[in-house]
Amino acid sequence: MRRFGLSALCVLCVAVLCLAALCHGAAGGKDYYSILGVARDASQQEIKRQYKTLSRKHHPDKNPGDEQAHERFIAVAEAYEVLTDAEKREIYNRYGEDGLRNQAGAGGFHDPFDIFAQFFGGPVRFDRRGQRARPRGPDVHVRVPVTLRELYAGAEIDVAVSKHVTCPHCDGDGAASHDDVETCSACGGSGVRVVKHVLGPGIVQQMQSTCDACGGKGSTIARPCPRCAGARVVRDADSLTVRVEPGMQHGAEIAFDAEADQIPDHDPGAVVFHLVLQPHAVFTRHGDDLHADVTISLLDALLGFARSIPHVDPAVAIELSRAAVTPPGFVHVLHGKGMPRRPLEKGAGAFGDMHITYSVQFPAAIDSEARGDLIRILGGTSLTATPPGSPPLAHDEL
Ligand SMILES: [Zn+2]
Ligand SMILES: [Zn+2]
Repeated sequence: MRRFGLSALCVLCVAVLCLAALCHGAAGGKDYYSILGVARDASQQEIKRQYKTLSRKHHPDKNPGDEQAHERFIAVAEAYEVLTDAEKREIYNRYGEDGLRNQAGAGGFHDPFDIFAQFFGGPVRFDRRGQRARPRGPDVHVRVPVTLRELYAGAEIDVAVSKHVTCPHCDGDGAASHDDVETCSACGGSGVRVVKHVLGPGIVQQMQSTCDACGGKGSTIARPCPRCAGARVVRDADSLTVRVEPGMQHGAEIAFDAEADQIPDHDPGAVVFHLVLQPHAVFTRHGDDLHADVTISLLDALLGFARSIPHVDPAVAIELSRAAVTPPGFVHVLHGKGMPRRPLEKGAGAFGDMHITYSVQFPAAIDSEARGDLIRILGGTSLTATPPGSPPLAHDEL
């Protein structure tokens, strides 16, 4: 009784599976053929072509924030994976999606982005002998001249960039159409060839080398792309906007990741801008401080003065005034009149100091009349030895 019951159950199972296979498109499980829009007898080429078209259409990068597109992108990758695997396709044809799920050792699906990357390239190369990250192209270093004023006030500087970009016509395939990319017949798409040498009875040496028919790419191109002639990249003019923040230093680096030349099968390097300070007519910069030399007359040095000099920002003037005697080399420090201190490091809104170093312009000569007056005013005695009427002393003889 018990034995009979079991076999009856098995018969029932098979009947249910057959039923599921007959109507899996409508009820229970996904219809991979309609997801890809191909007939049930579609060839591998047709399935690949549809996958390429649909995965590009639904790729999340082209449909930001669109959950439905994301789900379709995943479904298309699943359908492609099942229908291009002869064994999985057979099971699917007979038992539907449930049949695949019940399959012993069915390890789920690959990352849909890895499958996409097989066709279109991506940040991670799929199944290249365990090598996951793509090599990175070289960085490009560019010197950008900046004025002191730009470092003081901040600036946005547009820099024209000419670089190689992935060919928009072929999306980097190098082929006239996506169907012109063919799996390499020499290596079967693996990019490597295994050569066996019989060294002796029962001794076989296996040598692995990069496939020379496809250069290790695993694919060959039947007709090259008319735009890039198969080079996979074209030259393109672009511009990058360098944001100079107030208080940045000479030599500061501003990097744009992945904006350097696009090289097939590489992640692009960075474009790194280096700020190069141009000399200023009045000021030199030391850290966050500004230094300037100001020359005053001897009279100003003795009697005091008030004058203004332009600041780094020409719209602002710095008022210099002293009532006291200003000896040559005197340093006048104006707190908070220097460069903006970088907010993150030194506290927002703070500025360095301005250091004004005075030099005094002496008169070229003193005539005899002035000499007498100076002796009287300053109370000197040493010059009385000079006989009256002798020629005035030149400045450089003093
Ligand atoms: Zn090959
Ligand atoms: Zn092209």
